[in-house]
Amino acid sequence: MRKVLVLEDEASIRGFIVINLERAGYEVVEAETGEEALEKLAANPDTRAVLLDIMLPGIDGIEVCRRIRLSDPHIGIIMLSARSQEMDKVTGLMTGADDYITKPFSPAELTARVDALLRRTGDAPAPPPAESSTELTQPPFRLNTTNRTLEKNGVRVRLTQVEYAIVKLFMENRGKALSREEILDTVWGHGYFGEPKIVDVNVRRLRIKLEDDAQEPKYILTVWGFGYKWNIE
Ligand code: CA
Repeated sequence: MRKVLVLEDEASIRGFIVINLERAGYEVVEAETGEEALEKLAANPDTRAVLLDIMLPGIDGIEVCRRIRLSDPHIGIIMLSARSQEMDKVTGLMTGADDYITKPFSPAELTARVDALLRRTGDAPAPPPAESSTELTQPPFRLNTTNRTLEKNGVRVRLTQVEYAIVKLFMENRGKALSREEILDTVWGHGYFGEPKIVDVNVRRLRIKLEDDAQEPKYILTVWGFGYKWNIE
């Protein structure tokens, strides 16, 4: 069964999340504090995704996210944020979360987001070994679509699954302007409940990882009022 960890200090909200995820067929591990979440995650290495509340006693959800990402680039991470925490959302995403859900949310939205996240983060069967097109190269980058890895100047760049999917989309469409909606549809999937702004946050994060100077991007260019494109110059 697909295992999900829920970190939320408010018992009523945690109960709501747990019961709805269990109804949707997930096995749920519960944690009330960040420390407990990290311990339980270590004890449950088969956990596929974590839902992290931000405001917590002790270490907060953003710090928990950062620590999880240090050791696991692939696990799915969704931040749970209150409506007033706009900046927290962005900070959470910058530390490596894949998505966020704003409280209050409906059971349908919750399970749709978790389902979509697991589809993106490798619930899909492994691709068959392909003889062709396993590498997309544009110096200084080399993207290996079999291993799902990216190198810059021969050095591996650690990417989340979402970041990898965005880079792959860019490199398959070099020089073409891609709209936020197109990126959202391809990477997050049709029927995604979230906002196009999540694309911007992931691009900001990618620029920090890929560009020589994230303030003066040379590879991922902004197409004003539309989206982004990968520079082929
Ligand atoms: Ca809380």
